[in-house]
Amino acid sequence: MPFLSPERTSQIISRIVDAERLDDLLDLLCEEIVALEVADGYLVNMRDVSGDFLTCLKLRYPGEFQKLEQSYLGYKFPLDNGQLNARTIAAGEIVRVHPANASSEEMVILRYWKIHDMTGVPLCPPGMRPATPPGVLVLLKQDGTIPDEELARVQELVNLFHASLSRWLRFSHLEQLHGEATAAVAESQRRLQFLDEMSSLTSVSKIYELFAAELFRQLPFDLASFSLFDDGQLQTRKAVAAKPQFDMIRREWEQYLQQNPYPLDASSSGSAHVFLRNEAMMFPDFQDIRHLPMAVYDRKSLAILQTPRSIFVSPIRHRKKPIGAFILCSLEKPVPLSGADMDLLGHLASFLGTAITNSKLYETSQAQILEIRHLNGMLQEKVEALAEQASTDQLTGLLNFRAFEQELDKRLHETERSNGQELLALALIDIDHFKKFNDTWGHAAGNDILAEVAREIGKHTRQSDRVCRYGGEEFVLILPHCDLEGASLLAGRIRDAIEASSFDTCAGRRSITISIGCTDYRTGDDRQTLFKRADRALYQAKENGRNQVCVI
Ligand code: GH3
Ligand code: MG
Ligand code: MG
Repeated sequence: MPFLSPERTSQIISRIVDAERLDDLLDLLCEEIVALEVADGYLVNMRDVSGDFLTCLKLRYPGEFQKLEQSYLGYKFPLDNGQLNARTIAAGEIVRVHPANASSEEMVILRYWKIHDMTGVPLCPPGMRPATPPGVLVLLKQDGTIPDEELARVQELVNLFHASLSRWLRFSHLEQLHGEATAAVAESQRRLQFLDEMSSLTSVSKIYELFAAELFRQLPFDLASFSLFDDGQLQTRKAVAAKPQFDMIRREWEQYLQQNPYPLDASSSGSAHVFLRNEAMMFPDFQDIRHLPMAVYDRKSLAILQTPRSIFVSPIRHRKKPIGAFILCSLEKPVPLSGADMDLLGHLASFLGTAITNSKLYETSQAQILEIRHLNGMLQEKVEALAEQASTDQLTGLLNFRAFEQELDKRLHETERSNGQELLALALIDIDHFKKFNDTWGHAAGNDILAEVAREIGKHTRQSDRVCRYGGEEFVLILPHCDLEGASLLAGRIRDAIEASSFDTCAGRRSITISIGCTDYRTGDDRQTLFKRADRALYQAKENGRNQVCVI
């Protein structure tokens, strides 16, 4: 005979249907249980997502123990320990524990909580096979036992909740899994981004910083140091602190490590040992082992750290071979490392080695590129200097014969292409009686004259004119945009100026005169015909008595 009237039943069912979350449903269940007044306290323990535990989601403790309710919320009851919760789930029916049948562990609970009767009610209808209770309602009674008929009422009530509880529990598990999956995706994206950033870094120093930042994000270590194998030793490159408050210690530690490279002898330091064995080492809490013997080097380094707790030392590997070592250390509390953490650190150590090797290659190649650029620059300067030398006359700084020929060819070409539009004239200058000058005043004074004459000619020519030292004491002017009359006028001005000047030489102030032959471009001219005509004009000037300009 059901104890719940049809009206009451439909009232409860309609409230069950209205529940929108597992928590609301459990509150409703608790409300109804309390209303039954069958027990002094209760726990509602529901299956967790793994199916290995029941988690306490609701509870009420009797009398003086109420204050402890908070600490039991979320408590996990294993389903493989044969205790009340596990037995109730396995049996799928009510299990009672009282002093007469309690296990020793259960007896402790009964005594401790001053409970006389502890009853597990599976949250599913009795006889349901296979038994799949989504959880257990544990009823606690301090005095006496709960009568069977009252338990039957509890069971009747629980039956109403079973279907909805199962569904809402599954839904809350799905929500939890969804949350975990979303977090895992975000985490793996973050890691990919970290890997991407590491691979694109080209400075080794930045790699240490980014790597340490990633480690500190995932594991609560406070300091990290990185050493690389170099020149037969492990040389510390960098120490990084997780928080600014450890920066003083970090600086001192880094300085000590950098000034004292680890000799490569397994007994000299933990890092050398780890490097040589190519295997990581973990010291869960240094405070437990500080009294034990250890390498002097490590003792000094740990003394700087003041309060080292967990210490993890790992090789840095490239292609499975150690290329250095890194140390992680916590200063405030120990860091428990799971197997998964160790695996992660192992992978990161290899990745770090690859990133360092790549970026060192990059740095080396960058340095080589810079050196090559520098050498190229120097080479270019040399080439330019040589080219200038090859085209310049040392004594006068004018273009030499070779450059003259090239320059004249270029101008002739331009003039030819312009169909006579572009004018071009040539003036050939020769110092008069220069042999005699040399004989009288010496070759050195002759050299001074050559340089002075060159300078004087330069004063009268335009930017576009080209002045060349053609031979010993002969100069030639290439005069673009200039006709025969213009050339003759210019030649006259130069001749006048030279005649009027006296030049400083090593044999005192001396004067000379020059003869000039001028001609201009005529259709069909080439270098030889043009030059020959100028030479003929010069010859004429000489013949006519020198110190004059002749034009042909
Ligand atoms: P002319 O009036 O007919 O030109 O008589 P010249 O003596 O100037 O002509 P010549 O061709 O007989 O002699 C040219 C002289 O120029 C011969 C050489 O001593 C001198 N000479 C040529 N090159 C240099 C040089 O680089 N330095 C000096 N100091 N003299 C030079
Ligand atoms: Mg001559
Ligand atoms: Mg001469």
